[in-house]
Amino acid sequence: MVNYKDLGLVNTREMFAKAVDGGYAIPAFNFNNMEQLQAIIKACAETKSPVILQVSSGARKYANQTLLRYMAEGAVAYAKELGWEHPQICLHLDHGDTFELCKSCVDFGFSSVMIDGSSLPYEENIALTKKVVEYAHQFDVTVEAELGVLAGVEDDVVAEESHYTKPEEVIDFATRSGCDSLAISIGTSHGAYKFKPEQCTRDPQTGRLVPPPLAFDVLAEIEKKLPGFPIVLHGSSSVPQEYVDIINANGGNMPDAVGVPEDQLRKAAKSAVCKINIDSDSRLAFTAAVRKVLAEKPGEFDPRKYCGPARDEMVKLYKHKIIEVLGSDGKAE
Ligand SMILES: [Zn+2]
Repeated sequence: MVNYKDLGLVNTREMFAKAVDGGYAIPAFNFNNMEQLQAIIKACAETKSPVILQVSSGARKYANQTLLRYMAEGAVAYAKELGWEHPQICLHLDHGDTFELCKSCVDFGFSSVMIDGSSLPYEENIALTKKVVEYAHQFDVTVEAELGVLAGVEDDVVAEESHYTKPEEVIDFATRSGCDSLAISIGTSHGAYKFKPEQCTRDPQTGRLVPPPLAFDVLAEIEKKLPGFPIVLHGSSSVPQEYVDIINANGGNMPDAVGVPEDQLRKAAKSAVCKINIDSDSRLAFTAAVRKVLAEKPGEFDPRKYCGPARDEMVKLYKHKIIEVLGSDGKAE
């Protein structure tokens, strides 16, 4: 049993309280390799932004959970080395699907876990979430739950159909489950193909897809029911078209990849939304940079020569998100 406090990590409670009051959102960036983690910490240290490092069960399988935990512990030391005096770093399980997985993460030094019972019937979702909350809270680990279903594909999480969170359920759900934050569905979606072309319009000038707007009326209803309660948005990459273009120009094939426009996320960040999950954008930045180097220098075989530029590109991306979209810069001096 390892407690996250001994690793220098923090849970989400204070971060979220400040974010709700301050009208900004905490970035939740997924990581599964060293370069992503270096880029996240560098970007956050340079902007003094609190951060949630997210590990999905797929990432745990890919990178090994022991290694990931030591990487998170190392991230705190690295942040200090970069001159960030009081780093606020949370290690969070993304889309935990069983009590056992959440318990194992709590026991392993995570400071926050998500239990995603959104595919279960309502009462079962409450019961499972409550069980995780009761265990996690003994160790002051915070718990994110989900109500409503997002479309899209994310590692092991796949849903064909989405449905919005029902505002009339949120008070009952939050009260009975005891969760610390709630992921809701208001039109965001997992992956790099968030909307089908038939859900979008097309910009006549560029030919690019223009996605449908998020359901801000549903968000406002939820906010009214649960004033000040931390709300989470999953599937909130914006799929920067410059990366898609670089990928496609250098041997890739990602037609009609589309995300949530950043102005919509900026608007959400100013409301009760205090955690915004971004994963695909970092994958795209990484892939675009790697493809470009390998296309331009076919003889290159030193991974540092293409992972290095990929890391630099991710630092740029994360800083942009922190400063221009979430507004979390300077919130963790
Ligand atoms: Zn998600």
